[in-house]
Amino acid sequence: MTGPLAPGSIVDTHTHTRFSDGVGTFEENVAAAEAAGCAVLVSTDHLTLPAAMDPSGSVQVVESRLAEHRAAWEAAAAAHPGVECVYGFECDWYPGCEKNVERWSAGAQVRLGSVHWLGEQDDGAWIDDVNDQRIWRELGPDEVWRRYVEAWCSACESPLPFDTMAHPDLPERMRGEGFPATIDLAPLWDEMASCARDTGRRVELSTAGWRKGVGDYYPARGLLERFCHAGVPVTVGSDGHRPADLCDGIRGAYAHAWEVGYRTVEVPRADGSWEAMPLR
Ligand SMILES: [Zn+2]
Ligand SMILES: [Zn+2]
Repeated sequence: MTGPLAPGSIVDTHTHTRFSDGVGTFEENVAAAEAAGCAVLVSTDHLTLPAAMDPSGSVQVVESRLAEHRAAWEAAAAAHPGVECVYGFECDWYPGCEKNVERWSAGAQVRLGSVHWLGEQDDGAWIDDVNDQRIWRELGPDEVWRRYVEAWCSACESPLPFDTMAHPDLPERMRGEGFPATIDLAPLWDEMASCARDTGRRVELSTAGWRKGVGDYYPARGLLERFCHAGVPVTVGSDGHRPADLCDGIRGAYAHAWEVGYRTVEVPRADGSWEAMPLR
């Protein structure tokens, strides 16, 4: 249906609309992506959170709006044939999430696997909420990191068809909020790289850290190098929550991935295939 992408084409595999916690409509997002020269745009609103984790339904697309969500995506995709639009979701992993992910994301072509939550569904906490730092104060950054890596590896090992693991070192989000890890993270990074390799997962190189005060990509260079050496394929996304953030920093991320040793990034195509697009 579609030919191979030109090397280094702009692709954004992680974006949000106001159906979840973004601010743009699908129409605004696709128009902004088109203006930014985007070849392939993957929409990945949050999904699959139980009421205990998202009581007001403000973080995610609630199940009752899934049909409306799909229709709005189709209309925007049809209005902008110059952008190849792919329908996906960012699915949270937490203990016992499998049935929710399977049922609620059934219509998706792409599923990002994310760990934002540590602990049980009714007794856990967000790790990247700057307004609720309870878990960071209670456990301390080193223990949050250890538990995060354990959960992340469980997500990789789950039977769920996560196409790529989003923002792999999300706990870095809180480094600048006064919670830097004091332990050497290298052994945890080694564990993550082995786990992604052994479970056949892709990982995401995200530009969002530059917009969220992290001052770096997710993942940090040492972790990305380990993924690269382990032969773990990479996808690239902005995690844009505003139309203006879509495709933000993608070219810089390609240059960074090249420098680390990657020669291709993986891209989901509208026909359901995945393509290894040369960076140059
Ligand atoms: Zn996320
Ligand atoms: Zn996201």
